[in-house]
Amino acid sequence: MTEKRLTDIYTAKGSRPETGDELEFGRYDGEEQEEEKPQLTPISGVVACHACPFRYYLEKNRERGEEPAEYTIAKQISYHTGDEIIEDEILEELETVNPDLTDEDRVNLRDWVSACRKENWQRPADYDVKLKSEKFGIYGRADHIFDKSPYIGIVRTAPAPEAGVYGAERIRAAAFAFCAEETLDVTCREVLIEYIPSGISRICKIQPKDRRETLRAIKKAKEIDGGKIPKKPKDAPCDRCYLRDECPDMPKSILDIL
Ligand code: SF4
Repeated sequence: MTEKRLTDIYTAKGSRPETGDELEFGRYDGEEQEEEKPQLTPISGVVACHACPFRYYLEKNRERGEEPAEYTIAKQISYHTGDEIIEDEILEELETVNPDLTDEDRVNLRDWVSACRKENWQRPADYDVKLKSEKFGIYGRADHIFDKSPYIGIVRTAPAPEAGVYGAERIRAAAFAFCAEETLDVTCREVLIEYIPSGISRICKIQPKDRRETLRAIKKAKEIDGGKIPKKPKDAPCDRCYLRDECPDMPKSILDIL
């Protein structure tokens, strides 16, 4: 499978995401990028900006693609975590949400359901809750809300790293925590990252470094929202960027490099 289609979505080169590989995330974030007041920046944009401000700039100026089947499947499974996960029930829902499911999608569903049954999931109190922070000017839609800490659960459609969470998730978690503290009036020090394809959920404890880097990314995103065209960072992780082929001035051949 599954891994091939997943990686096609997440990486330009089709290699499986490595621990710390950040760029494959954020390409599709469900309804997180819906219309909002112009002064509010989507959390997915903050995460993109943290990896490369130029990436956020490009993302803002390109049309949004269709929802990938992997996202639809992971999302639908995520509505059942915390309860008995019944494959036929989810399949029926999926066939309504996406009538064009392929055989490969059905195999994914079976594999991911099987993986998810092994995890002891927390039962969410609510789903798809829009959170925002006026203070920091950001917003996002939390996949899961829990009654107690961790108050936020974020569904991911990538396989889990071998340990911990990916670096990009730390920025996402910190940004969601900012929003949760303002919208839900809770003290949010950790966020649950739910890697549906692996059937693994992991707590991301937010560190001062995560908040600091998130604030810096928000600042950069705000500059871009304000019309500034960012420079490409010298250390931009272009070799892992799914926008590499669309990125202007990227060397495309040896002639470009010479
Ligand atoms: S290819 Fe490089 S410079 Fe262009 S958006 Fe991606 S990471 Fe940034």
